[in-house]
Amino acid sequence: MDRRSFLHSTATAGLGLALTHGSRALDAAQAEPAVRVRLIRHATCVIHYGATTLLVDPMLGDPGVMPPIARSPNPRPNPLVPLPEPAARVLDGVEAFLVTHTHSDHWDAAATKLVPKDAALLIQPPDAVKFTDWAYAAAQPVADAVSWKGVTISRTGGQHGRGAVAERLAPVSGFVLRTSGQPTLYIAGDTVWCPEVAAAIESHTPDIIIVNAGAAQFLEGGVITMDVDDVAQVCRAAPKARVIAVHMEAINHCVLTRSALRAGLEQAGVKTPVLIPADGEELRLG
Ligand SMILES: [Zn+2]
Repeated sequence: MDRRSFLHSTATAGLGLALTHGSRALDAAQAEPAVRVRLIRHATCVIHYGATTLLVDPMLGDPGVMPPIARSPNPRPNPLVPLPEPAARVLDGVEAFLVTHTHSDHWDAAATKLVPKDAALLIQPPDAVKFTDWAYAAAQPVADAVSWKGVTISRTGGQHGRGAVAERLAPVSGFVLRTSGQPTLYIAGDTVWCPEVAAAIESHTPDIIIVNAGAAQFLEGGVITMDVDDVAQVCRAAPKARVIAVHMEAINHCVLTRSALRAGLEQAGVKTPVLIPADGEELRLG
């Protein structure tokens, strides 16, 4: 290795350490990790995986353009915070979109306006009619699994709450990304800890898991996305996985903050370091 490339890889490794909040150090020789997850805001993430760049659940609107979620605590117009950069820049370089479901905090009016109509969208089958209505000609329902640019993308289930509220908010999906030689990545979507999440972990054995925390809730009916206990259950079910928690501090009914999640996991004795990125932060995951 010549001096210049050594300096470059050292700098990259240092950056990786800084951005991964104590997860295992990157191999110094690995200049550009193939898996990078950048939280944009809420559930919206840009994922560089294998040879492709995917965007999960585009919610692209400006702060305050949507009303508070009906019958929810802390009623304030949504989103609560801006995108970390202009939407056009967020979309730059994205090759396909994964849409876990179409609640307005996962696919908003701005997405319908800004995501190109010929974009490759991977969606859950029950949402196909909506995307046809919105003129997305290349929206592809994922019944079980599809292949995209060398990545196998499998759809997983979930429960958006418990009991009657979950039935009302169904259906929701998650996705698993797998390709040879790369860590398997599971995007759980809007779900609490439930048999579907346990089954996804058991059958796909993901190395990286993105969970939607925030303990979103209405005035009654319990949480509809993961709270501290749910995230702790994921960590216990996948003790070797790197768990990334998103879906916090951007929509009014998400009452669990990043710092409360961090403190709660520590109190619960969870050993796995959960990565909790800030809006705009990129995690380099090798
Ligand atoms: Zn959500």
